[in-house]
Amino acid sequence: MKRILITGAAGFLGSHLCDRFIKEGFHVIAMDNLITGDLKNIEHLFKLEQFEYYHHDVTKFVHVPGKLDYILHFASPASPIDYLKIPIQTLKVGALGTHNLLGLAKEKGARILIASTSEIYGDPLVHPQTEEYYGNVNTIGPRGVYDEAKRFQESITMAYHRFHGVETRIVRIFNTYGPRMRLNDGRVIPAFMGQALRGEDLTVFGDGSQTRSFCYVDDEIEGIYRLLMSDYTLPVNIGNPHEITISDFAEEIIKLTGTEQKVIYKDLPKDDPMQRQPDITKAKEILGWEPKVGREEGMRKTFEYFKTLSNDELEKTEHRDFSERNKK
Ligand code: UDP
Repeated sequence: MKRILITGAAGFLGSHLCDRFIKEGFHVIAMDNLITGDLKNIEHLFKLEQFEYYHHDVTKFVHVPGKLDYILHFASPASPIDYLKIPIQTLKVGALGTHNLLGLAKEKGARILIASTSEIYGDPLVHPQTEEYYGNVNTIGPRGVYDEAKRFQESITMAYHRFHGVETRIVRIFNTYGPRMRLNDGRVIPAFMGQALRGEDLTVFGDGSQTRSFCYVDDEIEGIYRLLMSDYTLPVNIGNPHEITISDFAEEIIKLTGTEQKVIYKDLPKDDPMQRQPDITKAKEILGWEPKVGREEGMRKTFEYFKTLSNDELEKTEHRDFSERNKK
């Protein structure tokens, strides 16, 4: 039986990856320190013999007994509200955590896939973003802790590949959504859906003309799976190129949820990228991958999930207010 270590396993993407690799017949070793993850996302797997869980912070030395065939490094805070709250951990898990896991991959002769991000393109001056674009990142802005950790992560991964011959894969993940997103992570989809469920107005930041392209989680996981199994070592964008402005998206959510609330406008967070759309030519050519789930179907499934959450969970949601921070 192939053995795979998944870090950030109790998070949104990590938990879906655990499900997928269990389904593919792997022995899954899940690791998380639960700073932003939640055991609820993987508790259904605890009864399985081919699943084990380690509570561990990967910025400390990582020890896993026995053989390892694959490592997926998905541990990281991944939303602007988290970068503001836990900036040092964000830097450490991308830098020190990645170093530890590359060391483990080298020791075990395992293939390692690193979760990178469209954030490495920053506020992009090239549109749509191809893998060859170097990005436009503010190193000292509020997102710098994430963006630069992820850029360092890519560099050290390529160094381990070139210098030590470690088998590495790098996925650049664009905005992804679906069941198990954290309701209070401040991201636009949980924010709008939570507001609709609580009967609050939907908060659009800025004038809403900024764009994003949202990929349903099942599509994202399929792309990651194919990349891991491929022999391609340079970064690959995995995301849905179907782009929408945030104000049009708010209207879509109003229609989908049937809320009678309206859109209200708040300050735009500092360094919020104006546009984002993946060029997925590489993923199509190399992996034969493209997204299959449209926004309407994906958002419907996601809203069904948020509707199952209790009132307590709904009330716990924090609101992002960047007006003070922006002044600094
Ligand atoms: N956004 C918004 N209202 C919210 C939360 C987010 O208008 O309540 C905007 C945010 O400013 C950004 C976009 O939605 O332009 C996507 O934000 P998210 O945090 O989901 O992802 P990211 O900016 O990292 O792509």
